[in-house]
Amino acid sequence: MSQEATWDMLVLGGTVLTMEPGSEPIANGAVAVADGHVAAVGPAEELLELAPTGEVLNAGNCLVLPGLVNTHAHLAMTLLRGLADDLPLMEWLENHIWPAEREHMTRETVRLGTELAVAEQLLAGVTTTADMYFFGDEVSAVLAEAGMRGVVAESLIDFPTPRCATPEEMLEKQRELLEAYRDHPLITPSVAAHAPYSVCAANLVKEAELAEDFEVPMQIHLSETSWEVENLLQEKGLSPVAYLADLGVLSERTVAAHCVHVSTEDIGLLADFEAGVSHNPVSNLKLASGVSPVPQMVARGVKLGLGTDGAASNNTLDLLRDMQLSALLHKVINQDATTLPARTMLEMVTVSGARVLGLEKKIGTLAEGREADLICISVNEPHSVPMYDPSSHLVFAARSADVRHVMVRGRVLVRDRELLTLDQERIEAQAREFSETIRSD
Ligand SMILES: [Zn+2]
Repeated sequence: MSQEATWDMLVLGGTVLTMEPGSEPIANGAVAVADGHVAAVGPAEELLELAPTGEVLNAGNCLVLPGLVNTHAHLAMTLLRGLADDLPLMEWLENHIWPAEREHMTRETVRLGTELAVAEQLLAGVTTTADMYFFGDEVSAVLAEAGMRGVVAESLIDFPTPRCATPEEMLEKQRELLEAYRDHPLITPSVAAHAPYSVCAANLVKEAELAEDFEVPMQIHLSETSWEVENLLQEKGLSPVAYLADLGVLSERTVAAHCVHVSTEDIGLLADFEAGVSHNPVSNLKLASGVSPVPQMVARGVKLGLGTDGAASNNTLDLLRDMQLSALLHKVINQDATTLPARTMLEMVTVSGARVLGLEKKIGTLAEGREADLICISVNEPHSVPMYDPSSHLVFAARSADVRHVMVRGRVLVRDRELLTLDQERIEAQAREFSETIRSD
């Protein structure tokens, strides 16, 4: 801490949860931000003594913590929110979602759907989002313009997408994205293969090689349904996780969404290969896929983050709500109220989620030198008074509508619940217009 503190901003007041290992909440704390990074964290009175320069962001009566990390999403699917509900996964995909995407998803609608997703997530305290969809360059541009952090991929699948006719073309678009966004401050370009049942072995291997060459994450849906597991066991004699390991595709770069139907051996492989897992409880419940054995994965040391999945299978991108649901779900499934305590759940949406996306050196905690991605959640509401334990409060009492300020890389994107970098009204109006075009089909 320098005595001539030149800070761009001081986030002042409130209770600070740094999420550093073993850290205690700092009552009446402060976070100093300079050059997009955390310059100092501590009690407000100590930081104020350094006579700082710069603007003050009032976080009185708030919990101040690292921004939430959504480890699995398909952003533009916000436009398909509620289009087809109460259906099983394959029928939902093959008869509703994929046809709607072929018909309606263009560069322009992907931009609009992504804008809507960014607006929804920022207002819900999510500062980093994964995305696997189409027109990854457009998605990256929207995120960068809005100031949100993203791990973005152009998806690879063995049949035509709204953008590309062949897997070769998709691989080409992936490479272009990886080159265009190399070393971008907010966007981590990534690769994504849809799933082991929709991408052939040769393409899965190509995908992993591309991830390795560019040192980026590889996103994939894995072991989502019992159908997927039984099918692969029949065809290859291997579980989906073992199949990826056998192909040499499973690695510390893997971001495996779902992992609902995983055996003890699968969990061992995920841990040993240091693969990241994105737990998507609401999507898995809604599509009746099952409940992922998250406590068993935590016990075995698997890297775990939380994901919303797309808004067509959730139907919101409210990560705080999904964290609350997940915490409750695993208690009842395991018939043990001590399962996944509040602090573990909170780690899953911050520090551990950052690890899953390979961003742990940049974000996930509020330590000096980390990039300044933080949120202030009001605890000045009837449902959040009094407060004995901030972690329990966030997991069991807070609502995403309590998110007051949001900062990414030192830039305030939401102030007093007002979105500063996107035109919320225009986006909502255009999304309503879009729904009329689908309705009239
Ligand atoms: Zn998904």
